[in-house]
Amino acid sequence: MRAQSVRLERHALIPGLVNLHCHAAMTLMRGIADDMPLMTWLQEHIWPAEAKHVSDEFVHDGSLLAHGGDAARAA
Ligand SMILES: [Zn+2]
Repeated sequence: MRAQSVRLERHALIPGLVNLHCHAAMTLMRGIADDMPLMTWLQEHIWPAEAKHVSDEFVHDGSLLAHGGDAARAA
């Protein structure tokens, strides 16, 4: 395969952009009180649930699920 060079004036070549602020591990909390106003949702539901359930394993499993992993692989 031969390399090809293309010159595009007024263009920039950048790497792909990846959203690193996606709360992947929170996939396991989807649906919890999600009809609440933000601060009620956070203070009365999500923060208590995080305090009770979040661990290294929780984050690992939630991240796998968010990125297409399945429960069998996460276990
Ligand atoms: Zn955020």
